[in-house]
Amino acid sequence: MSTINESSSTVYHGLWLVATPIGNLDDISPRSVSVLRASPIVCCEDTRRSGSLLKHIGARPERLLVTNEHTEHDVIATVLEYLGNNITVSLISDAGTPGISDPGEQLVAAVHAAGHKVYATPGPAAFVMAAAISGLPTTRIAFDGFLPRAGAARRERLTEIARERRTTVLYEAPHRLERTLVDLASTCDPTRTIVLARELTKLHEDLWRGSLEDALVHVRTIEPRGEYAIVIAPYWADVVEVTDTDIIDELTQRIQSGLTTRDAINEVTDALGVPRKRVYTLAVAL
Ligand code: SAM
Repeated sequence: MSTINESSSTVYHGLWLVATPIGNLDDISPRSVSVLRASPIVCCEDTRRSGSLLKHIGARPERLLVTNEHTEHDVIATVLEYLGNNITVSLISDAGTPGISDPGEQLVAAVHAAGHKVYATPGPAAFVMAAAISGLPTTRIAFDGFLPRAGAARRERLTEIARERRTTVLYEAPHRLERTLVDLASTCDPTRTIVLARELTKLHEDLWRGSLEDALVHVRTIEPRGEYAIVIAPYWADVVEVTDTDIIDELTQRIQSGLTTRDAINEVTDALGVPRKRVYTLAVAL
């Protein structure tokens, strides 16, 4: 049997990424419920936590497969075997959309590579909600997940954010929030606007908006608790004039990362909103 029909939803055979609430249980969609009820196998990070959600929605899978950052790779062969035997598998995470700062990426790639289908029931993702309600530009968004904890990788990412022309969204644990704000304030313009989106969809939901330097004062006056998404305004939001040095920096970064000069010129023209001829002239001089 390749499909399972249940109420108004069709659950096609394949791997399903099922989005679950990021706090408020009412945010689970009827389609997520249908798919989980129809899945004999559910991959989840934590059987106890997901077990209560599944019970709450009346889903009784035959098997829960623990799929966390340590086990995701080992689960792949088992999932492919189920899919090969026409058994539908769902993947959920502790909260939100699987594969978004959660297990899923490796499994999805392996399922595609083996020629099976991947579907999803879209739903909550903290970074989307945080960006949407932040009041910052949403035409272009860079989701950077969790910053690397330390070292060159962290510094590199912070430097990228300092020059990022899209709105950036980060995830951070409450006990690392202050450290991350200190690092952001020392790399970025401290007057840059940021939004701290806390405990979204939950009882203590809170949205703090202000400058990076004020955010530091703010987190030092509270005990950061709960879950935070950090939304950072684009670098260029308040800047009117683009200097030649800015253009050269942007060109150099792209060329060094492997782009052809022509592609770098095109990207920089779009990114900085300056005439192509000006970027071309500076690129030639490089
Ligand atoms: N897969 C999830 C998603 O789709 O958003 C993200 C999982 S990641 C392991 C957990 C991080 O997401 C938290 O540390 C926090 O930064 C952010 N997050 C999750 N739920 C949140 C909420 N209700 N409010 C604010 N941030 C949240």
